Amino acid sequence: MLQCTAVTALPPEEVQRLRASEEPEPYVLCELGAHDGQDTEHAAYLVPGRTPESPAVWFFWAGGEPERVHRSAYVPWCPAILRQVDTGVVRRCNLFDRHGAAHSWDVADPLGDLVAGRIAFGDSPKGDPCP
Ligand SMILES: [Zn+2]
Ligand SMILES: [Zn+2]
Repeated sequence: MLQCTAVTALPPEEVQRLRASEEPEPYVLCELGAHDGQDTEHAAYLVPGRTPESPAVWFFWAGGEPERVHRSAYVPWCPAILRQVDTGVVRRCNLFDRHGAAHSWDVADPLGDLVAGRIAFGDSPKGDPCP
């Protein structure tokens, strides 16, 4: 399943909230797998909780401009775990509890993969010559 492609501008109070932590981005991308924007809210991870286990702040929105409705809330993490029997690797779903669409390991992010691929294949910040 491909990742949902929804993007939205953050309201000023949410950008303000991010300013306390790191470099604020005025836009967020939906992190869910492709879904129906009518019945399922778009969702973007915003701010971590007090500990890695505690509920984090997520930004939810539905609809497009100018009728967009949005909210932000502390929500617990999805409890799903993927255990690979052959390798023993355990992956936790990095979405929130009761999210719509697929768990995070079933969501492919073509844009993220593209960016990661460019970093891996010689787009060195030092400007080394490409082979
Ligand atoms: Zn979405
Ligand atoms: Zn999940």
